[in-house]
Amino acid sequence: MPDQPTFDPADFAGRHIGPNRAELDRILHVIGVDSLDTLAAKAIPGSILDTVTDGVSAGLDTLPAAVSEHEVLAELSALAGRNTVATSMIGLGYYDTLTPPVLVRNILESPAWYTAYTPYQPEISQGRLEALINFQTMVADLTGMEVANSSMLDEATAAAEAMTLLRRAGRSKSPRFVVDTDLFPQTRAVIDTRATPLGIEVVEADLSQGLPDGDFFGVLAQLPGASGRIVDHSALIVAAHERGALVAVGADLLALTLLTPPGEMGADACFGTTQRFGVPMGFGGPHAGYLAVHSKHARQLPGRLVGVSVDADGDKAYRLALQTREQHIRREKATSNICTAQVLLAVLAAMYASYHGAEGLTTIARRVNGSARALAAGLRAGGVDVVHAAFFDTVLTRVPGRAADVVAAAKGWNVNLRLVDADHVGIACDEATGTAHLQSVLAAFGVADDLESAAPASLPESLARTSEFLTHPAFTTHRTETAMMRYLRKLSDKDIALDRSMIPLGSCTMKLNAAAEMESITWPQFNRLHPFAPADDTVGIRGLVADLESWLASVTGYDRVSLQPNAGSQGEYAGLLAIRNYHLSRGDEHRDTCLIPSSAHGTNAASAVMAGMRVEVVACRANGDVDLDDLRAKIADHAERLAAIMITYPSTHGVYEHEVTEICAAVHDAGGQVYVDGANLNALVGLARPGKFGGDVSHLNLHKTFCIPHGGGGPGVGPVAVREHLAPFLPGHPLAPELGGGPTVSAAPYGSASILPITWAYIRMMGAAGLRSASLTAIASANYIARRLDEHFPVLYTGDNGMVAHECIIDLRQITKDTGVTVDDVAKRLADYGFHAPTMSFPVAGTLMIEPTESENLAEVDRFCDAMVAIRKEIDRVGAGEWPVDDNPLRGAPHTAACIVGEWTHPYSRELAVFPAGAADKIWPPVRRIDGAHGDRNLVCSCPPIEAFSS
Ligand SMILES: *Cc1c(COP(=O)(O)O)cnc(C)c1O
Repeated sequence: MPDQPTFDPADFAGRHIGPNRAELDRILHVIGVDSLDTLAAKAIPGSILDTVTDGVSAGLDTLPAAVSEHEVLAELSALAGRNTVATSMIGLGYYDTLTPPVLVRNILESPAWYTAYTPYQPEISQGRLEALINFQTMVADLTGMEVANSSMLDEATAAAEAMTLLRRAGRSKSPRFVVDTDLFPQTRAVIDTRATPLGIEVVEADLSQGLPDGDFFGVLAQLPGASGRIVDHSALIVAAHERGALVAVGADLLALTLLTPPGEMGADACFGTTQRFGVPMGFGGPHAGYLAVHSKHARQLPGRLVGVSVDADGDKAYRLALQTREQHIRREKATSNICTAQVLLAVLAAMYASYHGAEGLTTIARRVNGSARALAAGLRAGGVDVVHAAFFDTVLTRVPGRAADVVAAAKGWNVNLRLVDADHVGIACDEATGTAHLQSVLAAFGVADDLESAAPASLPESLARTSEFLTHPAFTTHRTETAMMRYLRKLSDKDIALDRSMIPLGSCTMKLNAAAEMESITWPQFNRLHPFAPADDTVGIRGLVADLESWLASVTGYDRVSLQPNAGSQGEYAGLLAIRNYHLSRGDEHRDTCLIPSSAHGTNAASAVMAGMRVEVVACRANGDVDLDDLRAKIADHAERLAAIMITYPSTHGVYEHEVTEICAAVHDAGGQVYVDGANLNALVGLARPGKFGGDVSHLNLHKTFCIPHGGGGPGVGPVAVREHLAPFLPGHPLAPELGGGPTVSAAPYGSASILPITWAYIRMMGAAGLRSASLTAIASANYIARRLDEHFPVLYTGDNGMVAHECIIDLRQITKDTGVTVDDVAKRLADYGFHAPTMSFPVAGTLMIEPTESENLAEVDRFCDAMVAIRKEIDRVGAGEWPVDDNPLRGAPHTAACIVGEWTHPYSRELAVFPAGAADKIWPPVRRIDGAHGDRNLVCSCPPIEAFSS
């Protein structure tokens, strides 16, 4: 269409997709095709490729036509306007909070923080690692425990992880687990979901009355309870230990500024959420959950743990410790399937604590408690029965037969209370509670406004906190806005995020997170909603959820979608549970075996085990594809027991396997279900649909394919999509009956709802044609890189016509054999060139997996390829003996600014060390190569004393 304008400023796809028309022509020329359509035909098996009419592929014709950035913001604003931001006093683990604006602007709205990747390359991640070690220190200090990890997905999943941790760590062989009656209902629901497939029997008891009879491996209590009640658990913990059981306590961190922490009571583990530390409720998420343990259980902690180590110059440096990426190593024996966690929210909570310090947090806690006390006193004075005398922020009232009326009256004052049952109303105070809110509540109870009446203390004297906390300079030196602003900038300047250069991480799809997509997540109409707010307050966001579910169903070719899982791992778990429960519903309880190809992502095997399945590994052929002969043999071996196969498509090798339809058919014929891991959907959107080419269920990663930023390791959203027969088994929620009765996998009904507008905006602005060109451009770029690098680093796997999908694996094993230069050396050297390394040694050890995505323009892709080619020349000089294998610019990498001064004893020049790509636009790595093993031998997982940094 020659008379069409080549560039339309209102066309968002033209902003999202990196290469312009001329660049794309160049890319296509290099890979030897004349158009993106030819590329599609050559790269993707015809058996799965969708038909296309006017640039729109079969499944996507139901998507609305693309709109511009300003139009999408207007539409989002209209949706937001249909929500009502009432004063939320519902409680149950979600409280309003006042996020300091300095943190909103410099973290939540700063791409330097939100576009960062998980800190697997610690040398260029020191900023977020420091923020995370602050988080760990904050949690450990407040809970009185010794080691905390660097975030969990939410409070309820943290509780479930605490349960399985106690089972691993303890010596009891009992399958029974005791939980208190006074738990948040969503915590209880997720525990039940997790317990069932693992054969754990959950026993409920009112722990204020002591322990039940019989044996059990663990006990779980909450402080304060869901009813607001505070119970001293010290005697319970002693009694449980005497009976051979371990104890986990769910605790509110704000309350712990005033109360004896569970660690000091002898608890083995402590869990909860850090939501009320400045992270908006967001209709349920995302927020950082936490899990902390006694140091003797440190090696049992799931998720990521940041520790202190040293770099090559002997200076202190941070890196992920111990079990990091442990699913990739331990697979079905991993402690948990958690991979993506909640880093951005953990950073926010840690900085909230940093900004307020112990004094500020204590003041906030006293105010919150003061509000609750004043309210309780006013209610009592008006003749209302207040059930518990000991409480922190939540007041439980008994109003026989009147509860619904009170809640309705409060709603008239724009205040949401918790309707516990027909006779009880719960009222939770928080940082945002003011006198006017309390007056409205009293009015709703029909009680005179008597807030002046003397309010007696409500925290038991015997539980008053006496220990200090947050004494480290990280929590005492950033009290002014200037200091905090500079601290945040200083930290983020140490890191390479997408705001500095491309992050070519295979399998992780680090693409643009556009400003227009991000804009609405800080709007109060989306982020100040309580997840259990009345449905008529949340019409807008529910509409957005419904749109997104139907759009994602179209894109994937499935019938139904649940947005509840808050990471890919949780989507896998939910999807496998659906399969397991489907088999059970048909009386096929013997179908418990899950086939997983050897190349699979580590979370796959870990999730299958959590869903109660046995994992059988299927071999891959030399070309990387699933070995069909081995598959058929395994199917025959396990015939009766076959539950499912879990494949990734395109494969984790970055290839469109030709035989995918045969694989699916073979499993279906044997009565199994097909799980297609959709993390690689960036190679499929608008091209092929897993729900149509053989999948029964898939999860997608909205934080990969659909533009939710990676946040330095979370948040994520991992929707699960299923065909109709599995729909009854999709996630449900005890407080959202509209979702049906399926198992609850997250604390909130719609998971991390407040970041769904990002994906909504992306799909809305791209439209069907834009999404399809994005996928094809990503594939074109990956093939371009494969062509450009192949002569320097052989590309390991290709599919039809020598094409790769959206990523390519380059093989360094022979190079390492010949020269001694390793993938690590190349990865670290890339930092000297200003790049984040590609995915290292996954799925094949000794290789790098490169994924450019559609968002990088040709100049950036070429800059990366040039760096790789230059690195290859450096490797050759090592190979030729010019530099020794243990003293060359690769082994010495990364090089810091300090390398410019002082004595220089290396056989390569300083100039080459620090300015390999020229001095312009130099990004300085803040530390030299970090010694990981040293840190694991000397495990330190909280802020090191300040002297440790003076060298
Ligand atoms: C990223 C990824 C996952 C896990 O997703 P998380 O959100 O990190 O839990 C699973 N499978 C594959 C192939 C992935 O790339």
